[in-house]
Amino acid sequence: MPASEVDYPRAVRVRWLFSGTEPPARDAYVVMARHRILAVTKRKPDCPTWEMLDKAALPGLLNCHTHLEWSHLEQPLGERGQEFTAWLERMITRRRSDLQIDAGRWSMRRRQGLAQSLAFGVHWLADVVSVDEPAPTDSTTYRVDDCMGVVPFRELIGLLPLRWPELRALAEKFVRQARLREETVGLSPHAPYTVARAFLAELVAWANQHQLPLAMHVAESWEELELLAGGRGPLVELLESLNAWDRSAWKHGSTPRDVLDVLASAVRVLVIHGNYLTRDDLCFLAGQRSRMSLVYCPRTHDYFAHKPYPLAEALRCGVRVVLGTDSRATNPDLSVFEEMRFVASRYPSVDPADVVRMATVWAAEAMGLSGVGAVQPGMSSALTLVQLDNAATGDPYESLWQGTPCPTNTWQ
Ligand SMILES: [Zn+2]
Repeated sequence: MPASEVDYPRAVRVRWLFSGTEPPARDAYVVMARHRILAVTKRKPDCPTWEMLDKAALPGLLNCHTHLEWSHLEQPLGERGQEFTAWLERMITRRRSDLQIDAGRWSMRRRQGLAQSLAFGVHWLADVVSVDEPAPTDSTTYRVDDCMGVVPFRELIGLLPLRWPELRALAEKFVRQARLREETVGLSPHAPYTVARAFLAELVAWANQHQLPLAMHVAESWEELELLAGGRGPLVELLESLNAWDRSAWKHGSTPRDVLDVLASAVRVLVIHGNYLTRDDLCFLAGQRSRMSLVYCPRTHDYFAHKPYPLAEALRCGVRVVLGTDSRATNPDLSVFEEMRFVASRYPSVDPADVVRMATVWAAEAMGLSGVGAVQPGMSSALTLVQLDNAATGDPYESLWQGTPCPTNTWQ
C-alpha cells in the first residue's frame, strides 16, 4: 500500500479485542495511522472505519521458535509417539539427502515458511537457520519492521573441538553480514548433545560482546538427560555411530541446570522446549525472567512420547513462557494460533489471558522486540484478525478458540 494511504487515521471495529494487556473488550475500535495505533476506544472515531463485527483482533502474533527451512515438508517426519532419537535419525538422513541442493532452494523453503506463517496471522518469527543467506535479495525476508519480520538465529552444531574453529568462523561471518544489512540476528548453539560446555561458554561470552541473543534447545528429551548425566544412552550411541561424540563435552553428572547456568550470563536467551526441566530449574528460569524465556512448542511436544509438559508449574513459578511451532518436521503447520488453541484445550486451569500473552506481549519481550505484542497507543498496528463463529458463546475466550485466524495482509 502506498505510504500516503496509510498516513491518514482509520479504524477497525471488532466484536472482541484481545489487547494482550487488558481484559477482552467487546465492540471496540482500534484507530491507526502510519503503522502505529493511535487509540483504542469504545466510541466511534471520526475517521473511516472498517466494520469487522464478525471478527476478533489480537496483537500481531509472534512465533518464538521455528526452522523455516523445513517448511516444504508435507507432514512431520516419522510417526507420532516415536522416540526422539528415532526422529533425529530420520532428520539426519533427510539432511544428508539435502546436501546437494543449492542455497537458493534453502531460501525458497524459508520463503515458503514465511508465506505459511503469514497465512495464519503470524507477523514476527524467531527462525533458526543452518545455511547462510545466498543473495542480498533474500535479506528482505529478514527485515524486522513495524508490521512483520524474521529474526534469524544462526545454528551452530559440533561437539568435537576440531569443529570449533569452523563454527567460530561461521558465527563471525553471519554476524558481520547481518550488520552490513542492518538485520537483527542471534546465534543458536543447537543443543547440549551437539555443543560442548566449554564451547557454549565461549559462545555466550562472544555473543555478549556483540549484544546478540541466543536460542538453544534444552532438556528436550530423556535421551539428552541420559547423555548429560552419564555419557550414555541412545543419543550417545547415535553420535558415536557418526564419529561425533566427545565424552569430555559435559562432565559426568551434568543436568539441564548446568546448561542453564552457562546460558544465564547471556544478554537474552530463548530456552527452547524445556520438556524435562524440574521445578528447581523452572524457579531458576523465573529468577532470570528479565533475560531468559522458556519457549514451549505445544504440538511438537505432543508429537513425541514425552512426559506431560510442566506448563502450569512454570507459570506458577513466574517463568516467562512463550510459544513456538518448531518446524514442519514435527508439526503439521506453522500456526501459532493452533498452538494457543491446543494449550487452551489441554490446560483448562491455565488463565486464557496468559495463553494470549504467550504469543503476544510476553513473546515480544522474549524476542527483544519493542513496539509490538500489544494493542495500545504507540504500538504497531499489525493486528491478527480472527474470524468468529456466529454461533459462538458469549464467553470471549470460548469464541476466540472456536475462530479461524485470517491471513496477514497489508491493510494495517
Ligand atoms: Zn527446534
